[in-house]
Amino acid sequence: MTIDTQSLKAFFESQLPPGLEMLRQMVSINSFTLNRDGVNRLGKLTAHCFTPLGFQPEYVPSSNPDLGNHLVLTRPGRSNKSLAMVSHLDTVFPPEEEIANNFHWQVEGDHIFGPGTLDIKSGTVMMWLVLTALRAKAPQLFEDVTWKLFWNSSEECLSPDFEHVVRNRLPARTTAMLVFEAENRQGPNRLMVAARKGRITWKVTVNGRGAHAGGNLKHGASAVTQLANLVQRIEGMTDFAKQLTFNVGRVSGGTVLNRVPHEAVAEGEFRAFSPAICDEAKAQLLGLAGKGDVRSRADGYPCEVSVEITSESRPWPRNSATDRLLTLWANSGRELGTSVLAEDRGGLSDGNSFWDLVPTLDGLGPWGDNDHCSERSPDGSKLPEFVEISSFVPKAMLNTISILKLLS
Ligand SMILES: [Zn+2]
Repeated sequence: MTIDTQSLKAFFESQLPPGLEMLRQMVSINSFTLNRDGVNRLGKLTAHCFTPLGFQPEYVPSSNPDLGNHLVLTRPGRSNKSLAMVSHLDTVFPPEEEIANNFHWQVEGDHIFGPGTLDIKSGTVMMWLVLTALRAKAPQLFEDVTWKLFWNSSEECLSPDFEHVVRNRLPARTTAMLVFEAENRQGPNRLMVAARKGRITWKVTVNGRGAHAGGNLKHGASAVTQLANLVQRIEGMTDFAKQLTFNVGRVSGGTVLNRVPHEAVAEGEFRAFSPAICDEAKAQLLGLAGKGDVRSRADGYPCEVSVEITSESRPWPRNSATDRLLTLWANSGRELGTSVLAEDRGGLSDGNSFWDLVPTLDGLGPWGDNDHCSERSPDGSKLPEFVEISSFVPKAMLNTISILKLLS
């Protein structure tokens, strides 16, 4: 079905003020991942915003009792068609940080600054705008489709249970999974997310042999020296040609200064787009385990190296199902006179968990910048997270027209 773009534009312009009021209320609730009560309050408010559209809420407790409830909203349809949308409730800003940096809802020209304005409360408002338009402009289709909306309570810390919450509730043959993280821009081009790197975190522990640094140095096997060698080797595993990056994020080791250190630990992560390259890199990292090359100069006692994989978020590689969605969005963009391109992003989202289950596209949110930053410097060289007001209507049009094409 087709829709008159002029009347759709006018519709969104009329719905933007209530949408922005909704955003203001959402931003005024601190929903830092570890602020369980705040996340739960935002979940309630979000459910309340979608009630007039006919959605029923389900609050699903996180497997980690310190985290808030995931939110699932459902509107059953008359046909067996269904579409899923994904956002999250949490932000990366603790309440004390918001206060310390005077970081709150602040409208300046075309920008709205504030915690979560971009990541990702404006994405939630975008979902509301699109569904409101579909109900008004394509009521038949709106009634026919089963709409499943999912909010992760703790996306920013990659809680592993959300994947199961979604998988257990996703209707069979769901047409697509649309993730409402912010879009990116490259000149006049809108960038939607068609792939994301996987992220594997690891911990390397070295056990050496302690010894008196003054009287018996030769007897020692220095865990710190061994770890230093390993850090160099791990950093050296980065291969930009394979889009594989290793980062040693934290090191510690030793105790007092007159002891040859007996233990040292490094922790870090690596990322890649390709599952095969991730597997290869993991094998290479695990291959560092065993006897080290740093040994006691008295008797050859070697340092012992152990390697642990501490978490795994699998990659979302470029794939034909995502590319088909992208083509659809790009075609709608052409009709609207904007260019839509794909971006392969290094950061993770919930899309990483679902692309192999259902065709997934990410980046459906509006545009803004400086996400995850709360600071502002007097000279303006450091600005906090903001969303651009004028990016809502064009993106809502793009999303709505694309969803109509997808479901018709
Ligand atoms: Zn996000």
